[in-house]
Amino acid sequence: MSEVRVRFPPSPTGYLHIGGARTAIYNWLFVKKHGGKLILRIEDTDVERSTQESIEGILDGLKWLGIDWDEGPYFQSEYADEHVTASKRLLESGHAYKCFCTKEELEAKREAAAAAKGDYKYDKTCRNLSTDQIAEKEKQGLPYVIRFKVPEEAGGVIFVDKVYGSIERAYADIEDFVIVRSNGKPLYLLSNVVDDIRDRITHIIRGQDGLVNTPRQILIYKALGADIPVFAHMPLTLDLKKAKISKRSHGEIVAVQYYRDNGFIPWALINFLVLLGWSTTDNQEIFSRDELIEVFSLEGINRANSVFNYRKGDPKFFTDPKAININAHYLRTMPIEELAAMVKKEFQAGGLWDEAYDGEKSQWFLKTLDMIRDRFHTLKDFTSLGRAYFADDFTIDEKALKKNVLKYPELKHWLPMFADRLEALPELTPEATEQVARAFAEELGVKPGIPINAARAVITGLIKGPSMFELFALLGKEKVIPRLRDTAKFFEQNN
Ligand code: GLU
Repeated sequence: MSEVRVRFPPSPTGYLHIGGARTAIYNWLFVKKHGGKLILRIEDTDVERSTQESIEGILDGLKWLGIDWDEGPYFQSEYADEHVTASKRLLESGHAYKCFCTKEELEAKREAAAAAKGDYKYDKTCRNLSTDQIAEKEKQGLPYVIRFKVPEEAGGVIFVDKVYGSIERAYADIEDFVIVRSNGKPLYLLSNVVDDIRDRITHIIRGQDGLVNTPRQILIYKALGADIPVFAHMPLTLDLKKAKISKRSHGEIVAVQYYRDNGFIPWALINFLVLLGWSTTDNQEIFSRDELIEVFSLEGINRANSVFNYRKGDPKFFTDPKAININAHYLRTMPIEELAAMVKKEFQAGGLWDEAYDGEKSQWFLKTLDMIRDRFHTLKDFTSLGRAYFADDFTIDEKALKKNVLKYPELKHWLPMFADRLEALPELTPEATEQVARAFAEELGVKPGIPINAARAVITGLIKGPSMFELFALLGKEKVIPRLRDTAKFFEQNN
């Protein structure tokens, strides 16, 4: 078998969409598995809608995900001449013809068909014009489009899609379609095939919305004498209301960038996106890179549309809960040094970074991340929920404040007293602080949970977390003592 060559050909008319990213991922996995090349081709022939910003966004998105390509980016617009040349070849070989029908004529025919409740298809008026007739019309300077001559014999285009199986489209159902507009510009349908032939693409893995083009594109391949690649179309992704996910109806939530900006780990997003339309027989959900390359196959792509489970406006879920859970899984289990490198970027962007975290406090930094990550879902949680571990300007969780602090007015005296006891210790070890806390609670005649939960609230800002005795030791007197002493401020603020 010749070398596998696949392509990812986005149109640069917006950001990198998660649907587009999924297409890129499937192609990428396919070459990683079988060897071969992934070609990146920017399909920028729609000049009005293509933007430089979008091209950069797509490249950035792929790089962030870690999807590398072997050739390109090629730009479709640079091959415009080849697309025209191909249309000329099709005219010369008798696979295409010039059509001089005017817009008005075609419109009238379309309306007549609609009135008779029939399907409209071009009636081939110009298919059999004589050479003289064509010459005459050209002499008059009449504009024309170029149409593909669909075979008139019985039968149809038959091909086996790797996902949808055998597909047949009768020739009789395919109109003599336009391949070049009257302004001389080739249609996307043609350019796409010409580029795939030049790029020697062996497998076309693309969205199901491409399936309507495939029979016509196969006719072009045949007419140009090229080998027909293998096709694999991926199912659509729908939202809970069964609407196709799109920029217009879902906004930024379908952009890859949104996930980067909301603290996603690139591999977690890949892992989630892969599962939108592909699965193993045992429905495994978490895959390492090597494992995924090993088990991925086009045959595992589902025919059924996949569901992007997202409830608009639910503040608890800023995206599909499964995506969040997969991200949390990686965040909680990945090697701590790798996580630290990602958190570092967040901290640098958020002004929380301290150079000592790379130097004398590096052990402390790793240990802290490791202790707090168990409850976190995204990298953003380290700067928001985890802020108190790294900075003094944190906010206290509303519920923790009400339930564990304000409910007991005595705490404004108790916590400063507790601070004195802790300060008297030579060092805040878990064992020593536990002893002090228990003795202190007994002395007050309250359950140890009362001062301990209150201490957690004023020291970490949160209602839950790792063992408070471990935290006293981790944070040390420097953070623990002043925060306990400052408890009265919450009573004043909430008077
Ligand atoms: N440029 C097309 C798109 O972005 C690609 C279609 C194809 O893969 O053939 O939808």
